Amino acid sequence: MLVHAKSTPRSSFEYVEGWGMAVGAHARVLRPRTVSEVLAAFDLARRESTTLGLRGTGCSYGDASVNACGHALDTTAMNRVLSWDPATGVAVLEPGVTIEALWQRILPDGWWPPVVPGTAFPTIAGVAAMNIHGKNNFKAGTIGDWIREFDLALPRGEIVTCSREKESDLFHAAIGGFGMLGAFTRIVLQTKHVHSGDVEVTAVRARNLREIMDHFEGRTSSVDYLVAWIDAFAGGEALGRGQIHEARYLAAGEDPDPRRTLDVGHQHLPKSILGVPKGEAWRVIRLLNNDRGMRFLNSVKYATGRLEVLKGPFRESLAAFNFLLDYVPNWKWAYGRSERRGLIQHQLFLPAKGAHDAYCAILERNLANGCVPYLAVFKRHRPDPFWMTHALDGWSLALDFKVTPGNRDRVWAHCAELSELTLEAGGKFYFAKDLVIGPKEAERMYAPEMLEAFRALKRRADPDALLQTDLWRRVFGGAA
Ligand SMILES: Cc1cc2nc3c(=O)[nH]c(=O)nc-3n(C[C@H](O)[C@H](O)[C@H](O)COP(=O)(O)OP(=O)(O)OC[C@H]3O[C@@H](n4cnc5c(N)ncnc54)[C@H](O)[C@@H]3O)c2cc1C
Repeated sequence: MLVHAKSTPRSSFEYVEGWGMAVGAHARVLRPRTVSEVLAAFDLARRESTTLGLRGTGCSYGDASVNACGHALDTTAMNRVLSWDPATGVAVLEPGVTIEALWQRILPDGWWPPVVPGTAFPTIAGVAAMNIHGKNNFKAGTIGDWIREFDLALPRGEIVTCSREKESDLFHAAIGGFGMLGAFTRIVLQTKHVHSGDVEVTAVRARNLREIMDHFEGRTSSVDYLVAWIDAFAGGEALGRGQIHEARYLAAGEDPDPRRTLDVGHQHLPKSILGVPKGEAWRVIRLLNNDRGMRFLNSVKYATGRLEVLKGPFRESLAAFNFLLDYVPNWKWAYGRSERRGLIQHQLFLPAKGAHDAYCAILERNLANGCVPYLAVFKRHRPDPFWMTHALDGWSLALDFKVTPGNRDRVWAHCAELSELTLEAGGKFYFAKDLVIGPKEAERMYAPEMLEAFRALKRRADPDALLQTDLWRRVFGGAA
């Protein structure tokens, strides 16, 4: 489909940073409102001999939507739900529709986004470009598994409609292709039918990593969501101890008043936490945001987890269960609020075979190096057909490390050791979270034919290499 480029999108000069705040750059941000303005942005970049980094709401922890060497192309202003069919659950969305806007539109009709991240703020284009997973990855797959079709604006000046049948290579490479092949301008998503706005949640305590993994394996066929928080400060016999949360959708008839629970008002998160207004809670966490404070907080969380277990299965709204990290607005500010201070997340994916021992080695290395993540989250995954996907038949451990100007080199060196342990065990990394790997790690994580096929597709879709980000240059050297 050829669309003639018309007006240049509005733009402004801003500081654009990764969500974890550890990287950022001043850039001109272009905000198209139409498909033709997206194409006009490509023309402008070509004329100015510069590059464009696609960007949604900037919720990738690292440099996936930061482009220090060019402009940002931010598609959040294209945020209309183009159509919604409550009979089939199919939504047609512009790229800037957020997960929050989507669930608020579809839940009253008894539908829910099938795969969501731990925050509701990302855009549908951003989650498609990263092929995100949720706490239900072992069961529901990644978001790409639910995308039926999309339109991609190619930098060479064309709009291509892609699906499993049409332009199948582009379909499987652009989902999870971290914005390197083109800009999503329309996404057709199948959503999931639900009989209630609540899920039934059960908390389970685990004394070590073995117990967590055994519990997951026993429950994957009977629940819809599984996630474990791990106290990364615990060692010895308690290495990998934590709290598991499993949840299941309610069956028809289990919710006595589905109209009430499906209402958006029922989903709102509480306004205060232990009496502290939510907006200010990050200031309290900041007081404990050091090794000693976080060791204390993690052990208190583990000890008090017992109370939650005693209460037995309980019902919680879909938003409260899924978007736990949105409970405390701007909690990342507890890590500091000046440039290059913040956090990075390193999410280590391992195939099922050998995963237990490798994760134990990783947790032990954190303790031995004195570089302990303040938050550690464990999930179960399944493979999918997308070319650059992070998902596999195995597990992931996501580790949040505090970054300051003083500890930066030490944290990066430590993460390099964790990356090596991961690669030795046949593992992978995830670009939505990564800020540390380089070309050598990427070459070991993907089959060479896959890397070459992706580069070849980029050369075809983007012959002038207009689409670039700091991530692309860091990991793939910038050249297709
Ligand atoms: C608190 C928190 C919790 C999270 N939990 C999870 C989780 O549980 N699981 C998970 O998988 N992820 C998780 N994430 C990561 C997040 O879901 C992804 O980083 C997601 O991609 C962010 O979307 P975004 O709209 O903010 O896009 P950005 O971060 O701005 O960009 C992400 C990628 O999309 C590309 N892009 C943006 N717009 C377009 C477009 N129109 N066309 C093509 N490419 C485009 C960008 O170039 C970039 O490569 C979490 C993030 C946070 C902050």
